Amino acid sequence: MTFDEYRRKRDFRRTTEPKGFEGEGSGIFVVQEHHASHLHYDFRLALNGVLKSWAVPKGVPIETKIKRLAVETEDHPIEYAHFEGDIPEGEYGAGKVIIWDSGEFELIERDVDRIVVSLRGRKLNGRYALVRFGGKERKAKNWLLMKL
Ligand code: MN
Repeated sequence: MTFDEYRRKRDFRRTTEPKGFEGEGSGIFVVQEHHASHLHYDFRLALNGVLKSWAVPKGVPIETKIKRLAVETEDHPIEYAHFEGDIPEGEYGAGKVIIWDSGEFELIERDVDRIVVSLRGRKLNGRYALVRFGGKERKAKNWLLMKL
């Protein structure tokens, strides 16, 4: 199942995060400010019925020529794009989640190691690229996120 890892990490009797179903929703993106043990920003793109997700410790750049580390995390359910709230103490990712930006995107390019999108958000606008790095290892979780 698509969300096995997502569900395994969470106790839905305790957290108000969505349990998730597999559905449509391509074309939306969200950036969630996540006050977990370390503040980070979760960048999520709805692709093929799931939210592809990356944790971006320093946040999504607003300007070009800035490259930010984006660590791929497990696919999230589409409705997670609307989630804001407090994940309880002791739960995975405990802390406050706030929607920092959201909007629509157009998929320009998608390869196993490279994704280019055009974002139309309230804060983020224009073309962004995600480029996987970490050598020949195709499963490498580390990507660079930059505005083109
Ligand atoms: Mn997070």
